[in-house]
Amino acid sequence: MYLYNTATRKREEFVPNEPGKVGLYTCGPTVYHYAHIGNLRTYIMEDILDRYLRYSGYEVKRVMNITDVGHLSSDGDTGEDKMLKGARREKKTVMEIAKYYTDCFFADAEKLNIRRPDVIEPATACIDEFVKVISSLIEKGYAYEAGGNIYFDTSKLKEYYVFNDFSSEDLAVGVREGVEEDGNKRNKADFVLWFTKSKFEDQELKWDSPFGVGYPGWHIECSCISMKHLGERLDIHCGGIDNAFPHHTNEIAQSEAYLGHKWCNYWMHVLHLNTDSGKMSKSSGEFLTVSLLESKGYDPLAYRFFCLGSHYRKSLVFSYENLDNAVVSFNKLIARIAALKPEEGETVDEAALAELKAGFVKALDNDLNTSLAVTALYNVLKAKAGALTKRAAIADFDTVLALDLLKKADEYAAREAQKAAKAASTVRIYSDDPEIRAIEEAIDARTAAKKAKNYAEADRIRAELLARGIVLTDTPSGTTFERV
Ligand code: AMP
Ligand code: ZN
Repeated sequence: MYLYNTATRKREEFVPNEPGKVGLYTCGPTVYHYAHIGNLRTYIMEDILDRYLRYSGYEVKRVMNITDVGHLSSDGDTGEDKMLKGARREKKTVMEIAKYYTDCFFADAEKLNIRRPDVIEPATACIDEFVKVISSLIEKGYAYEAGGNIYFDTSKLKEYYVFNDFSSEDLAVGVREGVEEDGNKRNKADFVLWFTKSKFEDQELKWDSPFGVGYPGWHIECSCISMKHLGERLDIHCGGIDNAFPHHTNEIAQSEAYLGHKWCNYWMHVLHLNTDSGKMSKSSGEFLTVSLLESKGYDPLAYRFFCLGSHYRKSLVFSYENLDNAVVSFNKLIARIAALKPEEGETVDEAALAELKAGFVKALDNDLNTSLAVTALYNVLKAKAGALTKRAAIADFDTVLALDLLKKADEYAAREAQKAAKAASTVRIYSDDPEIRAIEEAIDARTAAKKAKNYAEADRIRAELLARGIVLTDTPSGTTFERV
């Protein structure tokens, strides 16, 4: 399997630290608001990686943090804690909004068939680990105290900007206009490991520590949670491209300074989902969430299908038009799968199945090329193989694609069969009594006239029956008659 490694800027063969096992760390959500579908693009692609590693036979341990403290409104450690801002917006406590938005995140993830990570760890549960690592960094001379905060000293490193092949736009720190540079820093790139009094005095969550009462910075959280659950040598670390700098750059700096050796071998970054007007955000434009898509009648898995249609290292433009095109393709695909009807006594052709799987594996082995994996799925439909073999291939691919393909196809087939049965059951079975049969035929002729908007004819039939003492009543399930 080949993965593009952002740290080396090369497509590299994936070789884990321990044969057969993979430690996978994926940065989790900051739970101050709903996740938007851009965030979820990243989680969908990480889920594909997680599932594909398992499909390839690896034993995977995936760890994800929940950022419930310390992520300031700018990634450059300025502004206010996003959690505190969210709590104030909703007049709730930080812990209340953390719980609410964590639950919402996992509910959205479930709708998108994103597997739950093996370990989910909130930052607030790991304060002891943060204190341990920060204390060690101070001891080793990599961190210093200034203005009450503890900073990482980037000048102590041989190399800092590991991901520096990105454009300055990719690496924008997101410093808000008008925010002053932190005067406590010795070097511009230094970052906060532990905040104490600083300027955020109304911070709700604070802990005692050897450095004073305060709270951790955002970056230290991911290093410590990863090391706690995945040890000193991490195989793969993922996140959205905006995490490459400063977040992941700082994670590498502090983890390797603490460990004294290389920490993570492969870095995978998912490019952004943008709107026509630029980067998707939680604060401007329509706030695009899974629930919003559902309220507009979209199936969340159609959004997953939309994401799989392009490579994770290309930015993707979201528009309703683009999504609608994906929905049409997805529905057609389901209908084509529904048409696969295995014959009685048919068996799976193992050689044909292996050939179909090879196309799928080739696509995903090549830096998770999901759009080619979807093409491999269409190739199954076109292949010269029996329906049972094709269904077996689709079931196999869907352990990675996670689009519920066979389930949806079977539901589709059942709906179609129901429609056909309903159409058949509405065929009138006429009475054996010739007199009643004549009335039933007159009623059907009137219904047909009404359907054809020939109301004069419909009225004429009704009047003729009335003249014979037969009164008609129209009900939602059809027309009944009575003799008077
Ligand atoms: P946050 O909740 O802001 O910490 O972000 C959660 C994840 O979503 C991170 O991995 C981000 O890098 C990623 N992310 C943020 N914005 C986008 C976007 N527009 N498209 C794709 N991923 C994004
Ligand atoms: Zn992180």
